[in-house]
Amino acid sequence: MPELPEVETIRRQLAPHVEGRTLTGVEILDPRWTRPDPPGPVQAELRGRVVEQVGRSGKYLVWHLSGEQYLLMHLRMTGALLFDPPADPPHTRVRFTLDDEHRLVYNDPRRFGTGHLLTGADGRDAYLRERLGVEPMTPAFTAAYLRAQARGRAAPVKSFVLDQRRIAGVGNIYADEALFRARIHPLRPAGSLKGAQLEALREAIEHALMAGIDAKGATIDDFRHVDGAQGSFQDLFCVHQREGKPCPECGTTIRKLVVGGRGTYVCERCQPRPRGRRGTRSGLVGAAAASSCEQL
Ligand SMILES: [Zn+2]
Repeated sequence: MPELPEVETIRRQLAPHVEGRTLTGVEILDPRWTRPDPPGPVQAELRGRVVEQVGRSGKYLVWHLSGEQYLLMHLRMTGALLFDPPADPPHTRVRFTLDDEHRLVYNDPRRFGTGHLLTGADGRDAYLRERLGVEPMTPAFTAAYLRAQARGRAAPVKSFVLDQRRIAGVGNIYADEALFRARIHPLRPAGSLKGAQLEALREAIEHALMAGIDAKGATIDDFRHVDGAQGSFQDLFCVHQREGKPCPECGTTIRKLVVGGRGTYVCERCQPRPRGRRGTRSGLVGAAAASSCEQL
């Protein structure tokens, strides 16, 4: 599933092609995309609007359109936006035509992706507020915020980090990479983390997300750039999808666990189990680890 860095990569690639352009044609081929709203009125509302800006909140692409309309797109599992594809891909759900004759196609084999049209900044904000917590890499994303959110929570920290209503935009890849960097075991109860660990977690989440953006996202399944190319962050993973391989920091074999139903990768030496291990190292995995991940 595209996470914050993948959606941000799409936003950066898409914006120069669509900002300032008019949507002359919009065809919603799959009524499920706009559910519970019927596609017809949404299509009619979109046609003729100018794309003023393409933004992002968490994993949502936020299209700011003329007349204070906002189209909020979520790509879910397999959604992809393709600019000027040579032909419509087999799972085309929405077609956009721009006033300069260029085309944008929304393709989604599993059809979980959504497009919702909202009126006014208040409508947009209310929609996002219900679904998203604080955005990483903003001043509100602090260790104190994480402490307040984690307080009293017995759920594993991995599930806590994945909860979009607490931290916007982090998914399975970046949660594993951030917990490794912060030396926190994914099964550790979120409410048990101390101040220094919460600060390490905050730093590690932002580090992982920024590294993902720099690498233009990770392509481990369907994620594609708007020109169909792949991201490269999958080549820089320290632990994610590296079961059986050596930890880049200490050489211990990386294990795969299931936490909250999600495949989770961990070095149990760098990230000690929550019970029965005391006096283990704390703090961030060093810069040496970052460079060795890049060599793998
Ligand atoms: Zn290790």
